[in-house]
Amino acid sequence: RPFVVGSEPVSETLSVAWALAWIRGAQAVLADHRMELIDLDRAIGDGDHGENMDRGFKAVVAKLDPASGNPEPASVQDVLKLVASTLMSTVGGAAGPLYGTAFLRAAKAVDGEVDADAVVALIAGGLEGIVARGKATTGEKTMVDAWTPAHEAAKEAALAGAAPAAVLRAAADAATAGAEATIPMLATKGRASYLGERSIGHKDPGATSTAYLLDAAAKAAGA
Ligand code: ADP
Ligand code: MG
Repeated sequence: RPFVVGSEPVSETLSVAWALAWIRGAQAVLADHRMELIDLDRAIGDGDHGENMDRGFKAVVAKLDPASGNPEPASVQDVLKLVASTLMSTVGGAAGPLYGTAFLRAAKAVDGEVDADAVVALIAGGLEGIVARGKATTGEKTMVDAWTPAHEAAKEAALAGAAPAAVLRAAADAATAGAEATIPMLATKGRASYLGERSIGHKDPGATSTAYLLDAAAKAAGA
């Protein structure tokens, strides 16, 4: 952990405490935005996305409670694995298996110290998991449209020498912009694709929840 004289100390690695703060922060922000995500999904889907995400992350946080009797995760990888298995088993719809696979691949990608490159690998793993599961590409109005720019921005920031927190901030901001950019898109994957042209003009709920998730990750790192 180098200390640069004349500037703030910059943490070069993220700890299990960061991962725990991320997931608790994600639970809080998804609870706060439950109705927004429900309304977005009502417009182009079946209206359950806010409920799905709220239920899933509440279940994860319940498992992290010492009173639950579960062993405290010892690493970032353990936290991500717990999130994956819990989302798989508690979140219905498309988002459960999609996010479950994302967190599983993200977990596999961060075996060891979580430096800036590992943050990029974590996000790359998440994106790969979603694509493996849902077979969507960019421009189809799904969460892939938030994860893809997040991955690109993270890669660029890490290449430029950014610390993990700044890599996460770059990813989160790109995901937020990516979610906004789904508004004019025509949905060609998932439930929203049943609407055809009527899916145009609405923000994708899954891309929106992805932006909240990555923003929580950056905030937990202090960015
Ligand atoms: P469901 O569509 O089964 O009701 P949710 O409402 O929880 O599930 O999640 C909907 C979100 O899932 C969409 O907004 C979209 O971002 C995402 N999604 C759906 N299908 C796919 C897919 N094939 N690939 C990637 N993301 C998808
Ligand atoms: Mg839905």
